[in-house]
Amino acid sequence: MSFQFECPNGHLLEGTPDQAGQQCHCPTCGMLFLIPEPVVEAPSPPGIVFPGAPAAGGNPLAPQGPELLHIPCPNGHELETPPEMLDQDVLCPQCQAQFTLRRKNSVEFKRQQEELEMIRMAKLSKAWLQGAIVAVVLIVIGLGALIAIRIASRN
Ligand SMILES: [Zn+2]
Ligand SMILES: [Zn+2]
Repeated sequence: MSFQFECPNGHLLEGTPDQAGQQCHCPTCGMLFLIPEPVVEAPSPPGIVFPGAPAAGGNPLAPQGPELLHIPCPNGHELETPPEMLDQDVLCPQCQAQFTLRRKNSVEFKRQQEELEMIRMAKLSKAWLQGAIVAVVLIVIGLGALIAIRIASRN
């Protein structure tokens, strides 16, 4: 039974286990070296699969992209604007009009303002509605009192 080993320069040689530990000249490069012990490759154990092993990956949170504002140029071309470009003078790439990127001109800002306005209006109308209900209740009470007074004055 022969085994393979390498000389110090990496030439593949073949010997028998009883030659292990003996000096040997590599026939290719002439290097003198000791023949190593044959490496007995133990059969690798079968791979053990842990059914409860935690899955790799975990909880990938989608990375939040930078907030982009859409600011129209004076001619209405919308430019995607990262926040760090705000308050800078730019040229519209479509009509070359120069203008300043203002947050208050952005579509997002206007939308936000509209939402705020709607909330304000909703609150106002709610307050108005409550006021109206109070008024109606007062009128009913007032009418009831009036009727009561009239009935009382008849007797
Ligand atoms: Zn060699
Ligand atoms: Zn433009």
